[in-house]
Amino acid sequence: MKVVNLLALVDREKCRGCKTCERVCPVLAIKVVDRKAVVDAEKCRGCAACEQRCPYYAISMVKREEPVVVSVEVSAVDYTKVEELCRRAKLHPEQIICYCTATRAEEVAAAILQGASSPEDISLRTGVRTGCKVECIQPILRLLEVAGIKPEPPKGGWQWYGRTPTVWEIPDEVKKKYARRGFYFDEDIKLLDRVATAPLQERSDS
Ligand code: SF4
Ligand code: SF4
Repeated sequence: MKVVNLLALVDREKCRGCKTCERVCPVLAIKVVDRKAVVDAEKCRGCAACEQRCPYYAISMVKREEPVVVSVEVSAVDYTKVEELCRRAKLHPEQIICYCTATRAEEVAAAILQGASSPEDISLRTGVRTGCKVECIQPILRLLEVAGIKPEPPKGGWQWYGRTPTVWEIPDEVKKKYARRGFYFDEDIKLLDRVATAPLQERSDS
């Protein structure tokens, strides 16, 4: 869940149509039309990636007249399916996967069960990945994968580059090699398994 207070505003005089903003937007809310960037105000999640990366300082972040709340109602979907997706992705449903927006795995799973089929769509619906834009892409891809969805990274975009291996997928020879250097992958796996399989807290909406 995110309360979106900001909106990207393009100074058309300064814009040179380089498309950097288009490539970095995590929700694909910005498009260059006739060599000028155009922001879809409804889609913009106020992350400032475009503002920070525009090489011509043509974008500024302005306060929205009214904040926009983006969230997926977890109780609107069958929670057993939400839980199943999260557990299969080796995530606890109540685990926060996006620290910038304090969004839990269950909300992303609910978004997928409601039809979200790409990281961009999930970000649009939940607001995840519109803070630092770094940490939460991997759990998002893991949840999509266990739902049978393997999205391709956006063509020509720099939003994300694919799923990286998890600790559960490290080959034995690699584990052995790094054990001598002080890595304890099997112990890490035991701990992470305990987190992912822990019981749910008592739910206020149950
Ligand atoms: S990054 Fe800046 S200059 Fe390039 S298209 Fe976007 S607004 Fe225009
Ligand atoms: S979501 Fe972020 S990158 Fe996309 S238009 Fe809004 S502020 Fe720019």
